[in-house]
Amino acid sequence: MMKVMICGAGIAGLTLAWWLERAGAEVAVVERAAAPRSDGYMMDFFGSGYDVAERMGILGELREVAADIAELTYADRRGRRVGGLRYASFQEMLGGRVLSLMRGDLEAVLRSALPRDLPILYGTGIEAVHDVPSGVEVELTDGTVRRADLLVGADGIHSTVRRLVFGGEEAFLRSLGYHTVSYLFQDAELAEEVGRRFVLVGVPDRQAGFYPTGNGALAASLIHACPAMTLPTDPRAETLSVYRGLGPLVDRMLEQCPEDPYYDYVAQIRMPTWSRGRVTLLGDAAHAVSLMAGQGSSMAMGGAHTLATELLGADVGSALERYERRMRPFVLRKQAAGRSTAGWTVPHQAWRIALRNRLFGLADLPGGRPLMGHSLRRLGASVVPSAG
Ligand SMILES: Cc1cc2nc3c(=O)[nH]c(=O)nc-3n(C[C@H](O)[C@H](O)[C@H](O)COP(=O)(O)OP(=O)(O)OC[C@H]3O[C@@H](n4cnc5c(N)ncnc54)[C@H](O)[C@@H]3O)c2cc1C
Repeated sequence: MMKVMICGAGIAGLTLAWWLERAGAEVAVVERAAAPRSDGYMMDFFGSGYDVAERMGILGELREVAADIAELTYADRRGRRVGGLRYASFQEMLGGRVLSLMRGDLEAVLRSALPRDLPILYGTGIEAVHDVPSGVEVELTDGTVRRADLLVGADGIHSTVRRLVFGGEEAFLRSLGYHTVSYLFQDAELAEEVGRRFVLVGVPDRQAGFYPTGNGALAASLIHACPAMTLPTDPRAETLSVYRGLGPLVDRMLEQCPEDPYYDYVAQIRMPTWSRGRVTLLGDAAHAVSLMAGQGSSMAMGGAHTLATELLGADVGSALERYERRMRPFVLRKQAAGRSTAGWTVPHQAWRIALRNRLFGLADLPGGRPLMGHSLRRLGASVVPSAG
């Protein structure tokens, strides 16, 4: 029985654990966070992730937790609508195969799909990795040493496994020139005003978004241009100083910013290879595509399914080669899409913002749908072979 250690109980790690356990492997997961985390952003979940979730039989559970968003609304500083897109049009363009999901909800559904006795060691990270004959030895932060046939680094964009085995992140992390912040907060009055809309207030180099997550709760999702390759020591203070002045709605949302919001680079991971010996990388650790591509979780799940399928059919070395060969063309395409859409998602120039707002509205018109639908389906091209 193959023994696999997975580092990271995020979207990639949990999906891989599900597929490998089902195939009879002995799986253990280590997760640095002390407990599951609910923070994170909302994503349009389509393409590979949707297809893998369907095969796992969890679409019903995901539908139950999906956010009920009616419209993406571009607003000016005073909160007046200046453009937008109805979600119904978006869903229609993707043949109904899309859900709006909070990252934390997707993670929770994946976790509950796992057998209860599958070990997930929370509050445990990785200290060192050593090659041993036909396997790896992993030193954990709890002082224990474990041996496995394969170690999978599914530990996100700032992967420790990648640093220990392939070298420092500066060699692989490519910033797209933006930073992003997200957090959840309660504000019943603002929630009432927002309704079922995902509201985006954009000015050159800054975009503040917020949307309802149910029960009067809201989520903030912010992106600003920032070439700095260091993260602020006080993310809250930085967030307030960058976004204040974008109008009363945004100022009100900023009042609720916690001390430690999710704050990170908008970046991609580009590596010449994802595997070395009996260690491989998965999801953001291997090939983060960035939130500009909007497909991070989907690629994480597509990658997990692909890796598990390959491990079933071949020895570890050939399986890792085939996993990478199958995934890489999809990753390269999504990373290219992420780079080219960045300048339209948060434009540097006012004229681009105005043009983008207008173009988005076209998709609500029957004539505009085929074009936008075509680009969306290309972006969501699935790495999972069709079930039929
Ligand atoms: C709490 C959280 C909030 C996020 N919010 C956003 C957001 O707002 N916008 C955005 O674009 N992306 C966000 N992301 C990233 C997004 O989830 C990923 O792009 C996507 O889901 C790909 O999934 P992944 O499993 O590869 O990585 P992730 O979802 O990042 O999961 C990686 C997991 O590995 C764990 N981990 C990290 N280091 C170690 C270690 N040394 N040892 C053990 N475990 C470790 C992490 O705690 C995490 O559970 C967030 C990630 C997390 C963990």
